[in-house]
Amino acid sequence: MKNKYDVIIIGAGPAGIFTALELVKKKKGLDILILDKGRALSQRKCPARNLGRCAGCDPCGITFGWSGAGAFSDGKLSLSPEVGGNITDYMTEDEAKELIDYADSIYLSFGAQSEVHGLNSKVIDDIKYEASKHNIQLIPCPVRHLGTEKAYYVLEGMYDYLVNDGKVTFSEMTTVIDILEENRTAKAVVIRTKDNEIKTIEGDFIVAAPGRGGAEWLSEQTRKLSISTNNNAVDIGVRVEVPNSIMDHLTKDLYEAKLVYYSDTFDNKVRTFCMNPGGVVSQENYEGGLALVNGHSYADENLKTDNTNFALLVSTRFTEPFKEPIEYGKYIARLANMLTGGGILVQRLGDLLQGRRTDKDRLKKSTTIPTLKNAVPGDLSYVLPHRYLVSIIEALKAFDNIAPGLYSKNTLLYGVECKFYSSKVQVNDKFETSVKNLYTIGDGAGITRGLMQASVTGIVVARDIIEKINR
Ligand SMILES: Cc1cc2nc3c(=O)[nH]c(=O)nc-3n(C[C@H](O)[C@H](O)[C@H](O)COP(=O)(O)OP(=O)(O)OC[C@H]3O[C@@H](n4cnc5c(N)ncnc54)[C@H](O)[C@@H]3O)c2cc1C
Repeated sequence: MKNKYDVIIIGAGPAGIFTALELVKKKKGLDILILDKGRALSQRKCPARNLGRCAGCDPCGITFGWSGAGAFSDGKLSLSPEVGGNITDYMTEDEAKELIDYADSIYLSFGAQSEVHGLNSKVIDDIKYEASKHNIQLIPCPVRHLGTEKAYYVLEGMYDYLVNDGKVTFSEMTTVIDILEENRTAKAVVIRTKDNEIKTIEGDFIVAAPGRGGAEWLSEQTRKLSISTNNNAVDIGVRVEVPNSIMDHLTKDLYEAKLVYYSDTFDNKVRTFCMNPGGVVSQENYEGGLALVNGHSYADENLKTDNTNFALLVSTRFTEPFKEPIEYGKYIARLANMLTGGGILVQRLGDLLQGRRTDKDRLKKSTTIPTLKNAVPGDLSYVLPHRYLVSIIEALKAFDNIAPGLYSKNTLLYGVECKFYSSKVQVNDKFETSVKNLYTIGDGAGITRGLMQASVTGIVVARDIIEKINR
């Protein structure tokens, strides 16, 4: 590693990788350094996937390292600007569409599957029409599904192209501790290397793309650098699991049915998210031992299950003076962990509605066989605030009109699923902060919440950097 680079990228998630890909493609000879506190892709492992419990790895193999939180993700590329973040706050919808198509073509060139779900407009119109009769909004979104195993190879291909071919320098297990400025211009980063050495590396341009795992650190940095931030929403809810037969007619053409319902009692926005036909429910372990539920599915037909799972989330944007939506979400998740002894809780909808706990015997009677085998049967009403629980139940009842069987006693609800969105860093339309040549992008800056939009923010930044250099 040298002492100075043209561009320093903090974080090797999709936002950071796409910054590098675009820089390399559009401007030859730039000295680019990518720093990540996690490991190179081939070294990333999560023992919890076999052990069923968090082994407390530092850094966590799931969220940190080459390809970021996307490495072991389901690899669903949402091809609509309406899904996966707020990039249309920074550009027109047409510009966003163009950039999504461009980023998609890059994923394809690295081996993404050619099939796109959700393009049959006749079917979409029919479902939309049916949904609207029950006050449900369907957000059409074409999806390219890489599948958990394929996403890995696509991102590995990007590693080979950028790092193994020597186009950029990648330093794994390197944590950026501090971002330095001089006269309100980006100057350098202070890093801790894998050998525990503290070094200062100068950069003409600094791109901070630390993802959700680095969001708190980025918040501290923005406070120190006097860059303004705004509260973002927190989404709290459950993961729903039902037999494929209940969701098939929606997922067959759409792959992912993105549904929105405003709950009757509280008028809260409830939405489906991350739908996995034939998928599995999984446990996600965060720093500090926090266990949250998630789900994914494999592209390989042989690995498909009989169940479909999806998140059902209630969105809340807290107002002044409250400023800690992430802590609020974690607090609720901790309650579920407390009741289960540290893992994920599962309850049948029928038991929840009858005000009783699901125990082992009741779970055994369920016609929906849980795919998360070590989930602990329990009672979500001891965990989720009344407002959330009521909104979730009302949404399930409404969705049953377009997916009959969803509001059934054997529908499984796993808790807690939380989507934390980092505080939104104030940036201009090129994602540059009030510190010149310092950019913040991706999930960590509270701008995106998905692979595709995170990738797009990287492309925008790279183009802006090149324009400045060429000026
Ligand atoms: C289980 C799971 C499934 C998902 N499935 C999907 C899906 O199917 N489709 C979809 O669109 N999205 C999915 N997502 C979300 C998607 O992975 C993220 O939106 C995306 O990865 C965000 O990209 P990013 O580059 O902003 O941040 P990240 O991917 O989080 O990358 C940030 C990187 O920065 C590094 N970093 C953080 N702080 C520092 C620091 N101080 N110094 C050095 N490095 C640092 C981290 O190690 C990390 O590698 C999923 C996420 C998870 C966890």
